[in-house]
Amino acid sequence: MELTEKVTVLKGIGPKKAQALEKLEIRTIEDLLTFFPRDYEDRRAFCAIADLQEDRPAFVRAKIELVIKDPYRRGKKQILRLLVSDNSGRLEVVFFNARYLADTFKVGKQFDFFGKPSVNYGKTQMIHPDFSVSEKGLMQGILPVYPLTSGISQKEMRLWQKTALSAAAEMEEYLPEDLILRNRLCDLEYAVCNVHFPKDKKPLLQGKYRLIFDELLALQTGLLASKQKTVGGKNGLVFSKEADVKEYIGTFSYELTGAQERVVAEITEDLESGRVMNRLVQGDVGSGKTAVAEIALYKAVRSGFQGVLMAPTELLAKQHYAGLSRNFADHEIRVGMLTGSMTAREKREVLEQLASGEIQILVGTHAIIQPDVVFHKLGLVITDEQHRFGVKQRAALSEKGDNPHVLVMTATPIPRTLAVILYGDLDVSVIDELPPGRQKIITRAVDENQRDHCYGFVEKELRKGRQAYVVAPLIDESEVLDVKSAEELYEELKARFADQEVALLHGAMKQQQKDAVMTQFYENRIQVLVSTVVIEVGINVPNATIMVIENAERFGLAQLHQLRGRVGRGSHQSYCVLISKGTSEIALQRAQIMADSQDGFYIAEQDLALRGPGEIFGTRQHGVPDLSIADLAKHIKILNDVKKEADLIISEDPFLESEKYAGLKKRIAKLFGEDFSLKL
Ligand code: ADP
Ligand code: MG
Repeated sequence: MELTEKVTVLKGIGPKKAQALEKLEIRTIEDLLTFFPRDYEDRRAFCAIADLQEDRPAFVRAKIELVIKDPYRRGKKQILRLLVSDNSGRLEVVFFNARYLADTFKVGKQFDFFGKPSVNYGKTQMIHPDFSVSEKGLMQGILPVYPLTSGISQKEMRLWQKTALSAAAEMEEYLPEDLILRNRLCDLEYAVCNVHFPKDKKPLLQGKYRLIFDELLALQTGLLASKQKTVGGKNGLVFSKEADVKEYIGTFSYELTGAQERVVAEITEDLESGRVMNRLVQGDVGSGKTAVAEIALYKAVRSGFQGVLMAPTELLAKQHYAGLSRNFADHEIRVGMLTGSMTAREKREVLEQLASGEIQILVGTHAIIQPDVVFHKLGLVITDEQHRFGVKQRAALSEKGDNPHVLVMTATPIPRTLAVILYGDLDVSVIDELPPGRQKIITRAVDENQRDHCYGFVEKELRKGRQAYVVAPLIDESEVLDVKSAEELYEELKARFADQEVALLHGAMKQQQKDAVMTQFYENRIQVLVSTVVIEVGINVPNATIMVIENAERFGLAQLHQLRGRVGRGSHQSYCVLISKGTSEIALQRAQIMADSQDGFYIAEQDLALRGPGEIFGTRQHGVPDLSIADLAKHIKILNDVKKEADLIISEDPFLESEKYAGLKKRIAKLFGEDFSLKL
């Protein structure tokens, strides 16, 4: 058998099974062997029936004492019960709807069963266990459990894997020897064999380490190499050294924080360097990212280029537009705005002035990606709240110029190790300091019993003239239910705060309606804003001092932190109240983290440990391929080792052109697949 052969060479795989395997992206023997178990079953030793523990899967060897067939009734499931025993005790084995099994079990014969014991009506049972006649068929040892798809059983998959393993010897070692020695990696064939059918726990761990290391190395090296291509390769527009931003900064009503200064210096260096800037600025909510963007835009204009700032929502775009117009007015810089809700005539006017270069800075929503938007001389592209945009949208905006500099800003803090992976093609700057005098937002976690008390507190704040956000319970099933729960809450609070203006905001509303509500809240014509999680990112309402989050247990920590960042933006003390159902260990732990920390990075790390990266950061959207064995949340430590090696490799051979890394290059291509836009 050869690695490149189709899986249909295996016994039992016909066109139907092949089609099912295709769904798992398994076509060749090699695909099969690199399809790894998600878990293992320990079937090394039999467990005495007397020692069985509820819900702990176990392997039992027992004799059939009694076979009980429930009488067949039309339309009813027929139940087959076996009473089996070993020296230590008795067990009931149950199969539902399994008439076809009735003749399999003969009284007095010995069978092996593997299943999860449960206790029902005082009896220990195993429901639908794996089984076979003893000494025949049922595999023993540490057995793999594969993630499957319909049409394929665990049993089949195991059998095919076991057969295919003979081809593992063909897998060539593709990593250089020095790297293998340095990292004490085991042999590739050994790793593959022991990850599928481990001889013991230790070989399993060694094997897994090797394969995780391989996958992360391919990932990291691939991203670094592609970054070399995009960043290292291209000539960039050179912004003028004469365009000194110091003077401009001097006109601010505040001093930049040390972190802002550092990031401005990093950006300035990029802009003057002659290489294309591709930089991510991460900074917690309120850390002052807009000022940094503004400074970069100023430099663009003074260097003779146009700049563009794209925001994810209309309201945020308007806020940026208002701020930039105000600040740039004294410097005779023309700012324009383009959003989806503008009339055709308004748009046409903006487009004309943009094409002629009259408008120097354009602010807008994704409306600015449209093909009819043409710049005169675009030099700098900034996207705010980057996580709302995909890689494609970012690229589309860049194509409006001739390799313009790119700056992306995000308030979603990402642990540094992960940032390198997620934004492999970007340099990362971090604003890790808040402007002075920022108040701590007092955060309390309460359970439902204290709900009434909590709204009593809200009432007091409202009487002082403040405003409040209330985030309605999040419901898994659908947006429709979310809306319903928000509506109920809205009715309740409207009745409760009868002398205040209470409004509702939810995802099913038209953008225009949402904008209208947000604007009224901004102008304090609405005091209590009840909403589903659609509260627009980046919005700034300094008079809002309370954030109440219902069903807080349903939100990720990073999300709670983002929501909390909506308050604490003015001079008044602000509060965040998390109302949770139940008081489980985890709920308490989460509440504690939120109450203790205001540090988005710390919270993100905790969140990552609790939930995993896919869900939080939308790894796919960042061009990170699905991983088959590595897990970016669990394997951060291995990732750190891998990073060192990847850096070494890229410094030695930036484009992986040498024979030494030919195998690695192939492995990278396999991981990233066809749609790896930045082909090596
Ligand atoms: P974010 O990083 O969330 O986008 P913003 O740029 O909106 O934050 O800044 C939040 C607020 O902080 C704004 O009102 C801004 O004027 C103010 N700000 C920014 N930098 C400083 C600073 N160095 N000192 C004082 N206030 C600042
Ligand atoms: Mg912002």
